[in-house]
Amino acid sequence: MKASKLILGTQRENPADAEIVSHQLMIRAGLIRQVSSGIYNWLPLGKKVLQKVEDIIRTEMNNSNAQEILMPMVQPASLWEESGRIDQYGQELLVFLDRHDNKFCLGPTHEEIITDLCKNLLTSYKQLPVTLYQIQTKFRDEIRPRFGVMRSREFIMKDAYSFDLNKEGLDQSYAIMKDSYIKIFNRLGLDYRIVKADSGAIGGSDSEEFHVLADSGEDLLAFSDKSDYAINAELLTELQEGQDPYSLEGKQSPDGQGNLKLKKGIEVGHIFKLGKKYSEILNLRIQGENGDINPEMGCYGIGASRIVAAAIEQNHDEKGIVWPKSLSPFQVALVEVNSKDNKNVKEKCNEVYQLLKDNNIETLWDDRDKRPGVKFADMEVIGIPMTIIVGERTLETGQIEIKKRKDEKPELVSHQDLLSLILN
Ligand code: ATP
Ligand code: MG
Repeated sequence: MKASKLILGTQRENPADAEIVSHQLMIRAGLIRQVSSGIYNWLPLGKKVLQKVEDIIRTEMNNSNAQEILMPMVQPASLWEESGRIDQYGQELLVFLDRHDNKFCLGPTHEEIITDLCKNLLTSYKQLPVTLYQIQTKFRDEIRPRFGVMRSREFIMKDAYSFDLNKEGLDQSYAIMKDSYIKIFNRLGLDYRIVKADSGAIGGSDSEEFHVLADSGEDLLAFSDKSDYAINAELLTELQEGQDPYSLEGKQSPDGQGNLKLKKGIEVGHIFKLGKKYSEILNLRIQGENGDINPEMGCYGIGASRIVAAAIEQNHDEKGIVWPKSLSPFQVALVEVNSKDNKNVKEKCNEVYQLLKDNNIETLWDDRDKRPGVKFADMEVIGIPMTIIVGERTLETGQIEIKKRKDEKPELVSHQDLLSLILN
């Protein structure tokens, strides 16, 4: 892609309301633009990153034999009345009337819709186990939208729902999803932890959260320094009757092994065993081995748009974003320097660009008629892992400059070695 044709949208100034670095950098790098409180446009660069997150999630979901569907964002409120959640969910649920005065809501999650769908779709235990998922826009009228897409009102979630004949089946489906999440977060290249969690308004029994570790995280996590015991501190203090979570700093771990250490985390995924809560209340009955049963359900969420922000919290420096390879909108930036004075520069860029293209390396060719400093600053804030610099000075020597985003200075390589260096 040529930068002269790309709607870049980079900007120098930090937005006044951006308290945390990922929010500042997502605006400055031209990934998102605010429409209204907690509601954002995704610009071309941002959409590319979001797509990479979604692709990794989709691949691993499909690998685990989950089947992709797409449910509506607009849901009849009657289903929420039937499940009894319309009041429990409170004002985060945005309810409105259509022209016939029928009550609808914007889906914050899809337990009601999926259970209702499966009433016609699943008839026999022979169809089980089955896990269905979607990657879709959710709306929650958050009381305090903040931190950009980290806590927005409209956001992209992957939500999956499993159906099993019995508890043992649910345990297996849950284990498969947990394993799939581990693969997803490993592939995303993020430093994360799995902790025991509260089931909240969704309901059910066991639940675990996946947290990206970052000081800006809204959740406090407690870990044993001796065992793999890990828990959301909020849940632990609830279990211990309202203690101040910070008073946990050095206390003995509840599993009796070692002492607790606290860290901040950003919740990027949440897996639950729902049991029969929704299949009973919404009357999902399917034929079992000996008569009809209510299936055991699980639900599994990942905040795809929140992951983009969380990845930046973990991967940035004072100049901008430093993308892990898995998420960068482009693998290589190609910067032409002062090509107006020397047409060989343009020609060399074209040659390098073609070479990279032929090798399926996503390249952003900065062919804009701008000062080198402006181009470098843009490439740095955008955070592409590697920049190739083609200018008059090095061209004469038969060499090309390569600068890795994490390095201070560029290195000189011969034209022949360029490709192998990039591919490694
Ligand atoms: P939180 O405690 O952060 O409000 P939650 O427990 O309400 O999260 P879930 O209902 O489990 O979240 O939703 C699944 C995932 O969706 C979360 O793990 C998170 O990554 C993402 N998510 C939830 N709320 C938001 C939001 N307001 N903005 C962006 N992503 C969100
Ligand atoms: Mg919430």
